Amino acid sequence: MKIIMLGAPGAGKGTQAKQIADKYGIPHISTGDIFRANIKNNTELGQKAKQYMDQGMLVPDELTCDLVMDRIGEKDCENGFVLDGFPRTIPQAEALDGALGKIGQKMDYAIDVDVPDDNIVGRMGGRRACLNCGATYHVVTIPTKVEGICDRCGSPVVLRDDDKPETVQKRLAVYHEQTQPLIDYYKGQGILKTVDGTQPMEAVFAAIVEILG
Ligand code: AMP
Repeated sequence: MKIIMLGAPGAGKGTQAKQIADKYGIPHISTGDIFRANIKNNTELGQKAKQYMDQGMLVPDELTCDLVMDRIGEKDCENGFVLDGFPRTIPQAEALDGALGKIGQKMDYAIDVDVPDDNIVGRMGGRRACLNCGATYHVVTIPTKVEGICDRCGSPVVLRDDDKPETVQKRLAVYHEQTQPLIDYYKGQGILKTVDGTQPMEAVFAAIVEILG
């Protein structure tokens, strides 16, 4: 099963993608996580990506596409994968279709986790992330057991630079301009499914499971 998660930043697609990966036993591939791991390890890719991410801009397609194509070619992706944060532009979607087409495959589902902008801005301020292990939390909806400390690895959790209000506005603008056109792209392919992302997390997941079966 090959799944794409669509939705604005902060719509909860990462949380849902992790749960889908667990339930269906497929890898969760988050380009944001890959970039953040590269930043943490101070790789050349990380240094380049950081300049864009800190400003709420997209990392250029040429730095993004190859790394995803390499990742989905790995053995653990044979039975499918869930893409979280990729594609984010029409050229990325075309690159993905092209790479899969070469091996006679195609994506099965594009799931849009739909949340209005007003809702997003409120949610993002409450987001907390562990920069050590990548776990994500929310002060209201997914709090850490001990305030400010990651449940998984014990490191401090922080408001990511790109979740700060001024960057969130920029990311939303970028989303509407560059990523939202993918909704029509996948509608045209007949694989778009929309779920109401304003519901509680469990209800969003139940709606997704209903779609995936
Ligand atoms: P995310 O964790 O998915 O919200 O991604 C965080 C940031 O990483 C985004 O705001 C972008 O700067 C960058 N990024 C992640 N995925 C992509 C992508 N597919 N194309 C371009 N930039 C991306």
